[in-house]
Amino acid sequence: MQDDIQHNNLMILGSGPAGYTAAIYAARANLKPVLITGNNQGGQLMNTNEIENWPGDITSIDGATLMHRMHQHAMNFKTNIISDHIHAVNFEEYPFFLQGEKNKYTANSVIIATGANPRYLGLTSEKKFQGRGVSTCAVCDGFFYKNNEVAVVGGGNTAVEETLYLSNLVKHVHLIHRRTHFKAEKILLDRLAKQIQENKVSLYLNTTIQDILGDSCGVTNLVLKKTQLKTEQKIFNLAISGLFVAIGHEPNTEIFINQIKMNNGYIIIKSGIHGNFTQTSVPGVFAAGDVVDHVYRQAITSSASGCMAALDSERYLNTINS
Ligand code: FAD
Ligand code: NAP
Repeated sequence: MQDDIQHNNLMILGSGPAGYTAAIYAARANLKPVLITGNNQGGQLMNTNEIENWPGDITSIDGATLMHRMHQHAMNFKTNIISDHIHAVNFEEYPFFLQGEKNKYTANSVIIATGANPRYLGLTSEKKFQGRGVSTCAVCDGFFYKNNEVAVVGGGNTAVEETLYLSNLVKHVHLIHRRTHFKAEKILLDRLAKQIQENKVSLYLNTTIQDILGDSCGVTNLVLKKTQLKTEQKIFNLAISGLFVAIGHEPNTEIFINQIKMNNGYIIIKSGIHGNFTQTSVPGVFAAGDVVDHVYRQAITSSASGCMAALDSERYLNTINS
């Protein structure tokens, strides 16, 4: 541990699409950004083998390659990229204070791009088939199952939205929920009822996933349990090729509790149409990417807001320096 405090003009927390894009824009604006990678360098896309919706990459690209290219791009404009993870911040002090695993920092402006992590069921087989049948993003991976049957697990808005999206794309969707009641909104449930009626979706209530089975090609079956049945039909197999886990996301914001305003763990930004879109409740602290967004959660939307955060930070730094 080093006791010296390193002062920076602009610090960007996170090395996902939002963080790297913010770094590219900030470095080109001569803001001399320092990017802290966090423990998961490259972010969520490091877990995917095929990205088909990154504009300009006509043939699909794997996540590690795309994130390596973003890293290089930020480096080419002389971003100072530091491998560290921030454990605590104090935004009541100015310059802002950040305590990392390796170093202590102060900064005139901060961009938070710490992302979110999808929640998983916690099965060993879920890890084994991640990227080979187990996905957490229907918009990203649904296309690969065009002619197949898939399952979605969850009972919130995300699970129902993923089911509706997939029901217009794949052969059939099996929606599995551990309760009878859904958290999802009525309007989505009405749309779901329509898809069930049209035989595009089957519903499994009071049902949990016990295991995910597969072979060298990927997922082949789910082992399901009807929690309220006491007979031997309680456990049964369901043949599917893909499982979409939609049981929520956890934004990486614990270190910002009591520092900036949040809603359900997501950072609140100003937004609107008058600029300064990415401003948090603390002037000079901006936020971008999945850490502010529980709806779109895409690489391209994260990158776009990373760009906005850099431009907002530039305006802020110009104001305080003038
Ligand atoms: P993230 O990518 O989540 O990156 C967050 C970064 O913050 C990480 O580098 C982490 O190390 C860092 N960090 C966290 N905490 C700290 C801290 N305390 N201090 C410092 N750094 C910290 N989207 C698409 O558009 N197309 C796809 O095909 C696609 N496929 C996907 C497949 C999978 C399996 C998953 C999980 C997601 C997929 N997505 C896809 C969604 C996409 O990955 C996310 O929307 C995007 O990565 C969000 O970018 P981000 O920069 O906001 O955050
Ligand atoms: P959520 O509302 O927290 O719902 C998660 C669902 O997953 C719940 O039904 C929960 O079951 C289930 N679940 C959690 N852990 C599980 C486990 N281990 N095994 C099986 N099931 C499990 O999450 P979300 O649907 O991602 O939504 C998050 C937030 O984003 C919500 O506020 C939502 O309204 C919002 N959102 C809005 C939109 C929109 O406005 N269009 C779209 C997506 C999300 P229980 O019911 O038993 O708790």
